[in-house]
Amino acid sequence: MDDCIFCKIAAKKLGTLIFEDEGIAAFKDVNPVGPVHVLIVPKRHISGLNDASGEEALLGRMAVAAIKLAKELGISEGGYRLVMNSGLNGGQSVPHLHMHLLGGRAFGWPPG
Ligand code: AMP
Repeated sequence: MDDCIFCKIAAKKLGTLIFEDEGIAAFKDVNPVGPVHVLIVPKRHISGLNDASGEEALLGRMAVAAIKLAKELGISEGGYRLVMNSGLNGGQSVPHLHMHLLGGRAFGWPPG
């Protein structure tokens, strides 16, 4: 989608990718909330989880990429968090499906 920032990043028109395969891309969050904060996104535009109910393979691929990146970034042993925010109450601010990979410190629960 032309005016979508994550579409532009995934297409390498902006920013720097730290991982990609044919369907997904990963890059560092511009406003990290921990020592490791990576976003994993599909390359094709999907607005969010509500539009991803038929996307079992893609969602699985995103999670598996997060596991691989967690290992590569050295946070597997210490632990990490995967987050997908959906809609207003979920705190989603960018309307392109994404998974946050957070690590490098302890995160509280429940979220605020
Ligand atoms: P969410 O609130 O779940 O929609 O998360 C969106 C995330 O995207 C936030 O953590 C932002 O800091 C991050 N973000 C927004 N714009 C950019 C950008 N241009 N590059 C990298 N991360 C971004």
